[in-house]
Amino acid sequence: MKIGFIGLGMMGQPMAHLLAQAGHALVVSDLDAETAARFAAAHAGAIVAAEDKDFADADIVITMLPDSNAVEAVLLGNGGRPGLVPLLKAGATVIDMSSSEPMRSRTLAQTLRDKDLQYLDAPVSGGVKRAVNGTLAIMVGGDATVLAQCEPVLKTVGQSVTHVGPHGAGHAMKALNNYVSAAGLVATVEALQVGQKFGLDPEVMVSILNSSTGKNNTTENKARQFMLSGAYNSGFSLALMAKDLGIAMGLGESVGFDMPLGDEVLQIWRDANEVLGKGADHTEMYRYFQNRKD
Ligand code: NAD
Repeated sequence: MKIGFIGLGMMGQPMAHLLAQAGHALVVSDLDAETAARFAAAHAGAIVAAEDKDFADADIVITMLPDSNAVEAVLLGNGGRPGLVPLLKAGATVIDMSSSEPMRSRTLAQTLRDKDLQYLDAPVSGGVKRAVNGTLAIMVGGDATVLAQCEPVLKTVGQSVTHVGPHGAGHAMKALNNYVSAAGLVATVEALQVGQKFGLDPEVMVSILNSSTGKNNTTENKARQFMLSGAYNSGFSLALMAKDLGIAMGLGESVGFDMPLGDEVLQIWRDANEVLGKGADHTEMYRYFQNRKD
């Protein structure tokens, strides 16, 4: 299988590494040419795409990019570049594993279908640690027959591959998952701050939360590891989480369902993103609340 892989960031790099290890021939690219060159140098069987036409004979093209803007720029072109779509061979499959916007993914699927190309939205959950281990949870939108063709490739990077519905369903599920995750994170951070002001030991609090009904992904996998430790290096940026919340809220709006808690949560993440600035890890929400002056 010849696989094009575009976007070698915190998630893309370990995922592409596993695909190369599984013996797939890879054509890689990234906005940061040095990153792509370094990856290819470290992996026999991987080459850097010098130009878009180097993807022309790929059976599958995987995108692992920040958002729908980047995905569309790569596939459909921008600034005078035509993008990959006119160059890909008929029957090739584009799999967008980024956390993109479901409505735009639906439109993209149709555009690709008109060009005899197949499409799956297959975003992931689990963070950098599970990307490295190849144990991501993958939620897929698109045709079951296309998924069946691509499942062995997806299983190389994921532990679970779940077909959640037609095109866009994977991206919708991912945004809603991250809404629940982001709300849980803020609740945990608030509780830890209040508890400490009251005189509770935060280490004890985390232990009790994890053996009680307040347990969630933040209490289990982030509070000690990245917040109380002061490490703040989970590998998932605060800006990307804020982007995901915007997608979830847009989804609510598109189906006409009010999300009052979502409004609050989104505002908190956007405010924190503004204060902490570019490059902040999403676990720095803890530090943001610690230093917040109301
Ligand atoms: P990242 O910022 O670390 O990596 C994105 C990569 O894409 C960068 O290397 C960047 O140079 C490259 N890029 C950007 N625009 C490009 C373009 N037009 N052409 C080519 N390359 C381009 O992001 P990440 O953390 O790897 O996240 C990637 C996607 O996965 C996002 O949609 C994110 O929301 C999602 N995600 C991230 C995590 C996580 O823990 N980091 C977990 C699940 C899902």
